Formats: sequence, structure tokens, C-alpha cells
Amino acid sequence: MEVYGGVEAGGTKFVCAIGNDAGELIKITQFPTTTPAETIGKTIAFFLEQELPLKAIGIGAFGPLDINPGSPFFGTITSTPKANWRNTNLLGSIEKGVGVPVVLDTDVNAAAFGEYCWGNARDLDTFVYLTIGTGIGGGAMVNGKLLHGLLHPEMGHIKVQRHSQDDVFNGICPYHGDCLEGLASGAALESRWGMKAEQLPADHPAWIAESFYLAQGIVHLIYILSPQRVILGGGVMHQKFLFNRIRSQVLNMLNNYIQSDKILKEIDTYIVSPSLGDEVGILGAIALAVNKFGEIIL
Ligand code: ADP
Ligand code: ZN
Repeated sequence: MEVYGGVEAGGTKFVCAIGNDAGELIKITQFPTTTPAETIGKTIAFFLEQELPLKAIGIGAFGPLDINPGSPFFGTITSTPKANWRNTNLLGSIEKGVGVPVVLDTDVNAAAFGEYCWGNARDLDTFVYLTIGTGIGGGAMVNGKLLHGLLHPEMGHIKVQRHSQDDVFNGICPYHGDCLEGLASGAALESRWGMKAEQLPADHPAWIAESFYLAQGIVHLIYILSPQRVILGGGVMHQKFLFNRIRSQVLNMLNNYIQSDKILKEIDTYIVSPSLGDEVGILGAIALAVNKFGEIIL
């Protein structure tokens, strides 16, 4: 059995792991995201310490990222609000430091790919993975391929209609104010309500607006990509009651326009959580490496 490395490179923390081509984790560690030099240094050190020879490393990273292989800045984090991470060559520095081939994609595409290989999207070829964490982002597979396009999708910045309750809140996105991320991310909830999302009780009005925003985002994605399933991950989705509220709002907003039983009769298996749970990001990163440099065992 071949052994691979994975990095879930997040804006808050980095998760590094060793796993195999069957999606089993062998070793996992995490540390806070500080400066690029320190954080990438720790990442390289983790992989160099391993006794098992790694075949390759996959990275799922926060962005925006340059993942266009033809670009001179291929493999770098580009215009992130985290100023000291701008223009950091993540792929190149880890490849050079560890000395094995590295594949890089967005954190959300990596997560989507993890679900495709070993999770809730195994039988699909077109689906969306949306994370509602500190920020909001989405990855997609379309007709069996991860979607990149011009740069990569930025599903968290979809414009949504404001909820009447939110008329006093400007939204936290520095670019758009009240986009999906600006209004419905974990950071937005904290800024809007003065407490962390995990502390907001289920009957708090925050969740009425939250499910309204997320449902709008999902409805747009359904119209544009016609996904066979929508997977919702990220810290905020630990509030499990959100799923049913989002499902019913999505049904309301679609208003029977999309004539598929998958939505009309099976909404509970249409909008779901990642079956890989909180390991979706790191397993997805490993899956990217296995897929490019080896063979996935399903
Ligand atoms: P990140 O997006 O930083 O990679 P997460 O996906 O864990 O990481 O998301 C962190 C966000 O999720 C924070 O805004 C946090 O307040 C929120 N969060 C974490 N746990 C919960 C929970 N149980 N319920 C609601 N929100 C949560
Ligand atoms: Zn925005």
C-alpha cells in the first residue's frame, strides 16, 4: 500500500497528515497558521520526520490561489486578505522542502474530491461542496472533473438578498459587504451577534437569516451547475438543525421549478453533510495526491 501526505492549509490552522490510497489516515497533526516561513517550515518538518517513504503530497489551501499550471505564479496564494501570505509559493516551497511531487487545489475542491473518492459523492459526477466556516467557499465537480475555470470559483461571494432582520448589519466582506460570506460566514455571525456561532442557541433569530442566506446561495448553485447533490461542511454546519431549515427554504425558493425527485422527494439526501466529517479536508488533500500520482482504492 502506497503512502501519501496531505495538507489542509487553512487561514486559521494547518492540518498535516499521512494516509494511504484507501483513504485511511495513518498520522495527523495540526498547528496554527502564523507566518508563512514558520507554518510552511513546520509542514516540511512534519513530512521529513516520517519514516514511511511518501509517494506524493496533496494540498488543499485557502486562497485565492493561482492553480493554473501555465502561470508564472502557479502554486502561490495570491490576493488573500492575510497580508503576510500574499504571493507565498505554497506548492514550490513544500515540493522543494520535502522532495516529493506536490499537487495543489483549493481547500474546497480538495474536500469535494475527498467526498467523491470516499464519501457522499461516490456515485456522482456533478456536485457542489460548500463550506460554511470562518469564511464561505465552494468547490465543484462538473461532469467528473473538478471545476477550475479562469481562476477558480468563488461561490462564497455570490450576492444574496438581505433578510429584513439584517438591515443594521453591513456584512464583513471587505470587497462586497453583503455577499454570502459577508452575511452568513462564521465570522459574519460573530460580528453581527457579538458571540461565536457555536454559542448562538437554536432559537436565536440569527439562524432564521442564516438559513435564508445559505438557501439562496444553494438555489443559485442549483440553477447554474445542476448539481446531483449539495454537500455542506464547515464549522457552522455543526449546528445540525440548520440542515432541515435550509432544505425547506431551498424547496420554497425553487417553487417546484426544478422537476427532479432528487430534490422534490429526496431533499434529505440531496442536501447533506460530508460523510468524511471533519476529516473531509485532509482526506481530500490526500485524495488529490493519490489521484495524480497513484491509484485511488475505493
Ligand atoms: P475554518 O473555516 O477556519 O477553516 P471551520 O470550518 O472549523 O474552520 O469554521 C470555523 C467557524 O465555524 C468559526 O466561525 C466558528 O465560530 C464556527 N463554528 C465552529 N463550531 C461551531 C458549532 N458547533 N456551531 C456553530 N458554529 C461553529
Ligand atoms: Zn464578498
